[in-house]
Amino acid sequence: MTTRTPTVGGNWKMNLNLADATALARDVCASLGDTPGAEVALFVPFPYLLEVGRVITNAGSHVRLGAQDLSDRDNGAFTGEVSAAMLLDCGVKTVLTGHSERRHVIGESDELVGAKTRKALDAGLDVILCVGETIEQREAGETDAVNERQIRAGLAGVSPGDMDRVTIAYEPVWAIGTGKTATPEDAQQAHARIRELLGEMYSSGLADEIRIQYGGSMKPGNAPELMAQPDIDGGLIGGASLKAEDFCSIVGAALQS
Ligand code: PEP
Repeated sequence: MTTRTPTVGGNWKMNLNLADATALARDVCASLGDTPGAEVALFVPFPYLLEVGRVITNAGSHVRLGAQDLSDRDNGAFTGEVSAAMLLDCGVKTVLTGHSERRHVIGESDELVGAKTRKALDAGLDVILCVGETIEQREAGETDAVNERQIRAGLAGVSPGDMDRVTIAYEPVWAIGTGKTATPEDAQQAHARIRELLGEMYSSGLADEIRIQYGGSMKPGNAPELMAQPDIDGGLIGGASLKAEDFCSIVGAALQS
Protein backbone atom coordinates (compact mmCIF):
# COMPACT_ATOMS: atom_id res chain seq x y z
CA MET A 1 0.00 0.00 0.00
CA THR A 2 1.49 3.31 -1.10
CA THR A 3 1.36 6.44 0.97
CA ARG A 4 0.63 9.24 -1.43
CA THR A 5 1.73 12.73 -0.40
CA PRO A 6 -1.40 14.90 -0.51
CA THR A 7 -1.34 17.77 -2.94
CA VAL A 8 -3.36 20.98 -2.66
CA GLY A 9 -3.57 23.63 -5.36
CA GLY A 10 -4.96 27.13 -5.21
CA ASN A 11 -6.46 28.13 -8.56
CA TRP A 12 -6.71 31.92 -8.48
CA LYS A 13 -8.35 32.03 -11.95
CA MET A 14 -8.72 35.59 -13.38
CA ASN A 15 -8.87 37.23 -9.95
CA LEU A 16 -6.79 39.64 -7.85
CA ASN A 17 -4.49 42.49 -8.82
CA LEU A 18 -0.72 42.54 -8.48
CA ALA A 19 -0.70 43.93 -4.95
CA ASP A 20 -3.34 41.47 -3.73
CA ALA A 21 -1.68 38.53 -5.49
CA THR A 22 1.72 39.16 -3.90
CA ALA A 23 0.13 39.79 -0.49
CA LEU A 24 -1.85 36.54 -0.73
CA ALA A 25 1.25 34.57 -1.72
CA ARG A 26 3.19 36.15 1.16
CA ASP A 27 0.44 35.23 3.65
CA VAL A 28 0.16 31.65 2.36
CA CYS A 29 3.95 31.11 2.54
CA ALA A 30 4.14 32.61 6.04
CA SER A 31 1.23 30.60 7.33
CA LEU A 32 2.36 27.27 5.85
CA GLY A 33 6.01 27.49 6.84
CA ASP A 34 7.70 24.25 5.83
CA THR A 35 4.51 22.13 5.57
CA PRO A 36 6.24 18.78 5.49
CA GLY A 37 3.85 16.11 4.33
CA ALA A 38 1.92 18.08 1.73
CA GLU A 39 2.68 19.50 -1.68
CA VAL A 40 1.15 22.95 -2.21
CA ALA A 41 0.93 24.92 -5.46
CA LEU A 42 -0.52 28.28 -6.43
CA PHE A 43 -1.96 28.66 -9.95
CA VAL A 44 -1.35 32.30 -10.65
CA PRO A 45 -2.56 34.54 -13.56
CA PHE A 46 0.20 34.83 -16.20
CA PRO A 47 1.06 38.53 -15.60
CA TYR A 48 1.73 37.92 -11.91
CA LEU A 49 3.87 34.78 -12.22
CA LEU A 50 7.26 36.49 -11.92
CA GLU A 51 6.32 38.64 -8.92
CA VAL A 52 4.56 35.82 -7.07
CA GLY A 53 7.54 33.58 -7.84
CA ARG A 54 9.81 36.18 -6.25
CA VAL A 55 7.64 36.27 -3.13
CA ILE A 56 7.81 32.47 -2.82
CA THR A 57 11.59 32.43 -3.32
CA ASN A 58 12.18 35.27 -0.85
CA ALA A 59 10.07 33.44 1.73
CA GLY A 60 12.23 30.32 1.26
CA SER A 61 8.95 28.46 0.80
CA HIS A 62 8.31 25.04 -0.74
CA VAL A 63 5.09 26.33 -2.31
CA ARG A 64 5.22 25.56 -6.02
CA LEU A 65 4.56 28.18 -8.66
CA GLY A 66 1.84 27.03 -11.06
CA ALA A 67 0.20 28.30 -14.25
CA GLN A 68 -3.42 27.86 -15.27
CA ASP A 69 -2.87 26.95 -18.93
CA LEU A 70 -0.26 26.71 -21.68
CA SER A 71 -0.14 26.55 -25.48
CA ASP A 72 0.21 23.26 -27.32
CA ARG A 73 2.68 25.04 -29.67
CA ASP A 74 6.36 25.84 -29.13
CA ASN A 75 6.51 29.40 -30.52
CA GLY A 76 5.42 31.53 -33.44
CA ALA A 77 2.41 33.47 -34.67
CA PHE A 78 -0.08 32.47 -31.96
CA THR A 79 -1.23 35.80 -30.56
CA GLY A 80 -2.10 35.69 -26.89
CA GLU A 81 -0.70 32.20 -26.28
CA VAL A 82 1.95 31.33 -23.69
CA SER A 83 4.41 28.48 -24.28
CA ALA A 84 5.82 25.90 -21.90
CA ALA A 85 9.28 27.43 -22.35
CA MET A 86 7.95 30.85 -21.31
CA LEU A 87 6.41 29.32 -18.19
CA LEU A 88 9.69 27.61 -17.33
CA ASP A 89 11.47 30.96 -17.78
CA CYS A 90 9.11 32.42 -15.17
CA GLY A 91 9.94 29.67 -12.68
CA VAL A 92 6.72 27.70 -13.15
CA LYS A 93 6.92 24.09 -11.98
CA THR A 94 3.42 22.82 -12.67
CA VAL A 95 0.52 23.64 -14.96
CA LEU A 96 -3.20 22.88 -15.14
CA THR A 97 -4.57 21.29 -18.30
CA GLY A 98 -8.23 20.73 -19.13
CA HIS A 99 -9.73 22.90 -16.40
CA SER A 100 -13.50 22.83 -16.88
CA GLU A 101 -13.60 26.56 -17.59
CA ARG A 102 -11.21 26.04 -20.47
CA ARG A 103 -13.18 23.04 -21.74
CA HIS A 104 -16.66 24.52 -21.35
CA VAL A 105 -16.20 28.31 -21.50
CA ILE A 106 -13.28 28.58 -23.94
CA GLY A 107 -14.21 25.40 -25.84
CA GLU A 108 -11.04 23.30 -25.62
CA SER A 109 -11.44 19.79 -27.01
CA ASP A 110 -10.25 16.58 -25.34
CA GLU A 111 -7.60 16.30 -28.07
CA LEU A 112 -6.25 19.81 -27.44
CA VAL A 113 -6.07 19.06 -23.71
CA GLY A 114 -4.04 15.94 -24.56
CA ALA A 115 -1.69 17.95 -26.79
CA LYS A 116 -1.16 20.52 -24.04
CA THR A 117 -0.51 17.79 -21.47
CA ARG A 118 2.14 16.18 -23.67
CA LYS A 119 3.72 19.56 -24.45
CA ALA A 120 3.99 20.42 -20.76
CA LEU A 121 5.46 17.05 -19.79
CA ASP A 122 7.92 17.08 -22.71
CA ALA A 123 9.12 20.51 -21.55
CA GLY A 124 9.70 19.23 -18.00
CA LEU A 125 6.64 20.73 -16.30
CA ASP A 126 4.42 18.77 -13.94
CA VAL A 127 0.76 18.59 -14.93
CA ILE A 128 -2.57 18.55 -13.16
CA LEU A 129 -5.04 17.13 -15.67
CA CYS A 130 -8.57 18.21 -14.74
CA VAL A 131 -11.59 16.09 -15.64
CA GLY A 132 -15.22 15.95 -14.63
CA GLU A 133 -18.82 15.74 -15.77
CA THR A 134 -21.50 18.40 -16.27
CA ILE A 135 -24.78 18.19 -14.38
CA GLU A 136 -26.56 16.84 -17.49
CA GLN A 137 -23.94 14.12 -17.86
CA ARG A 138 -24.22 13.26 -14.17
CA GLU A 139 -28.01 13.02 -14.34
CA ALA A 140 -27.67 10.77 -17.39
CA GLY A 141 -25.39 8.44 -15.38
CA GLU A 142 -22.36 9.29 -17.51
CA THR A 143 -19.89 10.42 -14.81
CA ASP A 144 -17.47 7.50 -15.17
CA ALA A 145 -17.73 7.47 -18.97
CA VAL A 146 -16.93 11.20 -19.21
CA ASN A 147 -14.00 10.87 -16.82
CA GLU A 148 -12.71 7.90 -18.83
CA ARG A 149 -13.00 9.73 -22.16
CA GLN A 150 -11.25 12.83 -20.82
CA ILE A 151 -8.49 10.84 -19.12
CA ARG A 152 -7.80 8.59 -22.13
CA ALA A 153 -7.60 11.63 -24.43
CA GLY A 154 -5.78 13.79 -21.89
CA LEU A 155 -3.10 11.14 -21.34
CA ALA A 156 -2.87 9.89 -24.95
CA GLY A 157 0.79 9.34 -25.72
CA VAL A 158 1.92 9.91 -22.12
CA SER A 159 4.42 7.21 -21.21
CA PRO A 160 4.44 5.40 -17.85
CA GLY A 161 7.80 7.08 -17.15
CA ASP A 162 6.16 10.52 -17.20
CA MET A 163 3.21 9.59 -15.02
CA ASP A 164 5.02 10.44 -11.77
CA ARG A 165 4.68 14.09 -12.92
CA VAL A 166 0.92 13.84 -13.49
CA THR A 167 -1.85 14.46 -10.97
CA ILE A 168 -5.50 14.02 -11.88
CA ALA A 169 -8.03 16.54 -10.54
CA TYR A 170 -11.59 15.21 -10.51
CA GLU A 171 -13.76 18.29 -10.60
CA PRO A 172 -17.45 17.79 -11.30
CA VAL A 173 -18.37 20.85 -13.35
CA TRP A 174 -21.64 21.40 -11.45
CA ALA A 175 -19.66 21.74 -8.20
CA ILE A 176 -17.14 24.34 -9.40
CA GLY A 177 -17.82 27.79 -8.01
CA THR A 178 -21.41 26.87 -7.17
CA GLY A 179 -21.18 26.09 -3.46
CA LYS A 180 -22.44 22.54 -4.26
CA THR A 181 -20.02 19.74 -3.39
CA ALA A 182 -20.08 16.06 -4.27
CA THR A 183 -20.76 13.97 -1.19
CA PRO A 184 -17.59 12.34 0.12
CA GLU A 185 -19.04 8.96 -0.92
CA ASP A 186 -19.84 10.08 -4.49
CA ALA A 187 -16.44 11.72 -4.84
CA GLN A 188 -14.72 8.61 -3.48
CA GLN A 189 -16.61 6.42 -5.95
CA ALA A 190 -15.50 8.56 -8.90
CA HIS A 191 -11.90 8.66 -7.64
CA ALA A 192 -11.81 4.89 -7.12
CA ARG A 193 -13.02 4.34 -10.68
CA ILE A 194 -10.40 6.78 -12.02
CA ARG A 195 -7.69 4.87 -10.16
CA GLU A 196 -9.00 1.60 -11.58
CA LEU A 197 -8.91 3.12 -15.07
CA LEU A 198 -5.30 4.29 -14.57
CA GLY A 199 -4.52 0.70 -13.56
CA GLU A 200 -6.03 -0.55 -16.84
CA MET A 201 -4.14 2.08 -18.87
CA TYR A 202 -0.78 1.68 -17.10
CA SER A 203 -0.44 -0.75 -14.18
CA SER A 204 -2.01 -1.17 -10.78
CA GLY A 205 1.31 -0.28 -9.12
CA LEU A 206 1.49 2.99 -11.04
CA ALA A 207 -2.21 3.75 -10.40
CA ASP A 208 -1.57 3.31 -6.71
CA GLU A 209 1.08 6.05 -6.82
CA ILE A 210 -0.86 8.70 -8.77
CA ARG A 211 -2.47 11.50 -6.78
CA ILE A 212 -6.12 12.25 -7.53
CA GLN A 213 -7.34 15.58 -6.16
CA TYR A 214 -10.96 16.55 -5.67
CA GLY A 215 -12.12 20.00 -6.77
CA GLY A 216 -15.48 21.72 -6.55
CA SER A 217 -16.43 24.15 -3.78
CA MET A 218 -13.97 22.61 -1.32
CA LYS A 219 -13.90 24.73 1.82
CA PRO A 220 -12.42 24.44 5.34
CA GLY A 221 -15.77 23.01 6.51
CA ASN A 222 -16.05 20.13 4.02
CA ALA A 223 -12.35 19.45 3.31
CA PRO A 224 -11.68 17.07 6.25
CA GLU A 225 -14.47 14.64 5.27
CA LEU A 226 -13.53 14.71 1.58
CA MET A 227 -9.81 14.30 2.27
CA ALA A 228 -10.52 11.38 4.62
CA GLN A 229 -11.67 9.26 1.66
CA PRO A 230 -9.08 6.65 0.71
CA ASP A 231 -8.73 7.72 -2.93
CA ILE A 232 -8.86 11.51 -2.42
CA ASP A 233 -5.30 12.81 -2.25
CA GLY A 234 -5.84 16.52 -1.81
CA GLY A 235 -7.81 19.28 -3.46
CA LEU A 236 -7.84 21.84 -6.23
CA ILE A 237 -9.34 24.94 -4.67
CA GLY A 238 -10.83 27.92 -6.47
CA GLY A 239 -12.83 30.43 -4.42
CA ALA A 240 -11.44 29.39 -1.03
CA SER A 241 -7.86 29.80 -2.28
CA LEU A 242 -8.34 33.57 -2.45
CA LYS A 243 -8.26 33.79 1.36
CA ALA A 244 -4.98 32.66 2.91
CA GLU A 245 -6.67 31.51 6.10
CA ASP A 246 -9.20 29.28 4.30
CA PHE A 247 -6.64 27.89 1.88
CA CYS A 248 -4.16 27.07 4.65
CA SER A 249 -6.88 25.47 6.70
CA ILE A 250 -7.62 23.16 3.74
CA VAL A 251 -3.91 22.32 3.52
CA GLY A 252 -4.15 21.51 7.24
CA ALA A 253 -7.01 19.09 6.50
CA ALA A 254 -4.84 17.42 3.85
CA LEU A 255 -2.03 17.00 6.37
CA GLN A 256 -4.37 15.25 8.79
CA SER A 257 -5.82 12.91 6.15
C1 PEP B 1 -11.51 25.20 -9.44
O1 PEP B 1 -11.40 26.28 -9.98
O2 PEP B 1 -10.82 24.29 -9.85
C2 PEP B 1 -12.47 25.03 -8.35
C3 PEP B 1 -12.59 23.85 -7.81
O3 PEP B 1 -13.18 26.14 -7.96
P1 PEP B 1 -14.10 26.28 -6.62
O4 PEP B 1 -13.28 25.75 -5.48
O5 PEP B 1 -14.39 27.74 -6.50
O6 PEP B 1 -15.33 25.46 -6.86
